[in-house]
Amino acid sequence: MISDIARTKEEDTAARIRAWAERYAARNGWRLNPDPAERETVIHGLARNAIRFGKQYCPCRIRSGDAAEDRKIICPCIYHRDEIREDGHCHCRLFFRNDQGVSS
Ligand code: SF4
Repeated sequence: MISDIARTKEEDTAARIRAWAERYAARNGWRLNPDPAERETVIHGLARNAIRFGKQYCPCRIRSGDAAEDRKIICPCIYHRDEIREDGHCHCRLFFRNDQGVSS
């Protein structure tokens, strides 16, 4: 069972990541996933990885255990720009092109 301290730490970390992601999306002309449940699932996944591993590893990809290889999937991962351009959103559906609806 998750303790109050752990829950607070996850919420604080999620808040920091949410604020960063909003700034990062705005700076790039994107937006965050407008579906709150999907968006928060990814943000909390990033927060849990940041707490557990010290890096905000992508929650939608598998870590190899090799630090150099896994650097590629620290959010924002090396794949996200191509994915957003080609698919309208990154693999995790955190960052969306502004012209993409949530069902894309
Ligand atoms: S797919 Fe890439 S940019 Fe999107 S949440 Fe995962 S690590 Fe971040």
